[in-house]
Amino acid sequence: MKAKEQIYSLKAYKPGKPIEEVKRELGLTSVTKLASNENPFGCAPAVKEAVLDELEQVSIYPDGYAAEVRTKLSEYLAVKPEQILFGNGSDEVIEMFCRTFLSSESNTVMATPTFPQYKHNSVIEGAKIVEVPLLDDGKHDLDKMLQAINEDTKIVWLCTPNNPTGRYITEEELVSFMEQVPSHVLVGCDEAYREYVVANDYPDTIALQRQYPNLVIFRTFSKAFGLASLRIGYGVAHEDLMKVVEPVREPFNTSRVSQRAAITALDHLDFIETCRERNREGMLLYENFCKQHQLDYYPSQGNFILIDFKTSQGDEVFHYLLTKGYIVRSGNALGFPTCVRITVGSKEQNEGIIHLLSDWLKRKGIHPKTEAASE
Ligand SMILES: *Cc1c(COP(=O)(O)O)cnc(C)c1O
Repeated sequence: MKAKEQIYSLKAYKPGKPIEEVKRELGLTSVTKLASNENPFGCAPAVKEAVLDELEQVSIYPDGYAAEVRTKLSEYLAVKPEQILFGNGSDEVIEMFCRTFLSSESNTVMATPTFPQYKHNSVIEGAKIVEVPLLDDGKHDLDKMLQAINEDTKIVWLCTPNNPTGRYITEEELVSFMEQVPSHVLVGCDEAYREYVVANDYPDTIALQRQYPNLVIFRTFSKAFGLASLRIGYGVAHEDLMKVVEPVREPFNTSRVSQRAAITALDHLDFIETCRERNREGMLLYENFCKQHQLDYYPSQGNFILIDFKTSQGDEVFHYLLTKGYIVRSGNALGFPTCVRITVGSKEQNEGIIHLLSDWLKRKGIHPKTEAASE
């Protein structure tokens, strides 16, 4: 039995260590996971009630077209209902676009390092992958990405804020990019962290989409909305484009529970606002910590921060924090071997990590600037 050639180059997704396993192995009673950019504040309380209520109907198939949440979301975004495609997480929306547009005759352009699912799904379709290294500041090299486009290019992927650097593409940069991209090329803008963004020059991509019919926006309820385990995300594009992709969608790809949760989450947007503010407060704590210890970091508009420990390996910092009960993400697997990526948590969690990291640096002979000055 032989599978498609390209499948053999893939690795199965390796999830982070489960909390229970870490507890058992290290004999810890409390373990905090800040490795997958989940919302440390959970979801809006009303969502839980709605989910419990919806459980009454688990034996009935969901509405595959997700009409109710579609109407709600289309009003929230001010787009036509037909412009939305729901997926089992935005991961699946990305997959559906790859299935629809990519083949061995085409290529697709993306940054590196970036979110791995663009490449993963493109490889499965047999497309040629063109990876353009990020600039030193962690931003997309949009000029080089433009140069990489040719007549066989089907999709260009932009991750903004980029996972794992947290850097974003400004409105001016995106407009200039869209002006130069040939109209036969789809531009996929992954905005999984858009609800966390506070930068004033972050683009209103929904408005830009009206101007550029080749722009596709991917968003999710997994991050700021706090619904990661329920699996619901969506794409927004021109209705003619969505008409092409829609038949690729599995009939019941989002569940009754996830749809109901998304509807309820959209009724409680004050929760998102609070999370955004608290995320910013946490981000400031980390930024100040980095500045004090003269550590480089990538200024992030997401709910995570990539910190460079320069002389130490990310794995070393990761293991140290693990033994203390915090699971973060080593930069090693993310293309940044001397970094760790930390999800911004609750105030208590952030202070806990910063305290541990300060201790660790002290043992390495790295003292905060303020202390050094008073010595
Ligand atoms: C988390 C994440 C997603 C996917 O999330 P889903 O849970 O599948 O909706 C997509 N893109 C980026 C950049 C992410 O970090």
